[in-house]
Amino acid sequence: MKKTILKYSVFLSLLFIVIHITKTMAGNETPELLDLMRENMVQEQIEARGIKDKNVLNALRKVERHLFVPKRYESMAYGDFPLPIGKDQTISQPYIVALMTETLKPDKNTRILEIGTGSGYQAAVLAEVCKEVYTIEIFESLGKRSEALLTKLDYKNVHVRIGDGYLGWKEHSPFDAIIVTCAPTHIPQPLQDQLAEGGKMIIPVGAKYAQELVLLTKKKGKIKKKRIIPVRFVPMINGQGKTY
Ligand code: SAH
Repeated sequence: MKKTILKYSVFLSLLFIVIHITKTMAGNETPELLDLMRENMVQEQIEARGIKDKNVLNALRKVERHLFVPKRYESMAYGDFPLPIGKDQTISQPYIVALMTETLKPDKNTRILEIGTGSGYQAAVLAEVCKEVYTIEIFESLGKRSEALLTKLDYKNVHVRIGDGYLGWKEHSPFDAIIVTCAPTHIPQPLQDQLAEGGKMIIPVGAKYAQELVLLTKKKGKIKKKRIIPVRFVPMINGQGKTY
């Protein structure tokens, strides 16, 4: 009798453990745990690597990255890597989002253009630190989903457009800053033209999946270039899916 009870309780314990693990993997973290994971991400991946801008750090603390990834990846949303978001595209690694944002030195007067809305996460981070965010996504399904999420999160200063970001967004130019989150093999001329005097653009440039992050500054109409670090972004494509 005792043995049977023991066996039964071992079985029940195992069952509880399995249920717990499955629930965790299915992405049912409690809000408290997600908050802890986000704080941990900021401390270990962002601050520890030298990001200092208080506004950028606050934005990364505030924006709930797990809302921007598919539900099945929720438990991985605060990891030190990019994640799939559909259409063969990815949400960038948190550190890269922070580094690109900090490098542009944005503030509450900055009007910024983003190329590659993707999940909308970078746009949300920018919305926290900039005045207006104009963001362009080539895949309609991704752009529409991000627009709906950003509206739900009450970001009134983000404007999403479906289209080819290579051409920029002339009607709203010139921009104080431009951030490109997909990689062309050369710097698009329209984006250089739409950068304001004194403005900054950060862009990954190079061959497929092996590029250099470059910072451009426009001074007296001339463009100055500075290399930042090697990176891996998805390619910038045109309406026919061909890489630029
Ligand atoms: N900033 C995004 C990262 C998205 S990955 C985020 O925070 O999630 C890069 C995105 O660029 C993809 O969604 C891809 O579809 C998009 N893209 C590629 N070429 C583009 C182009 N010519 N114009 C606009 N978006 C483009």
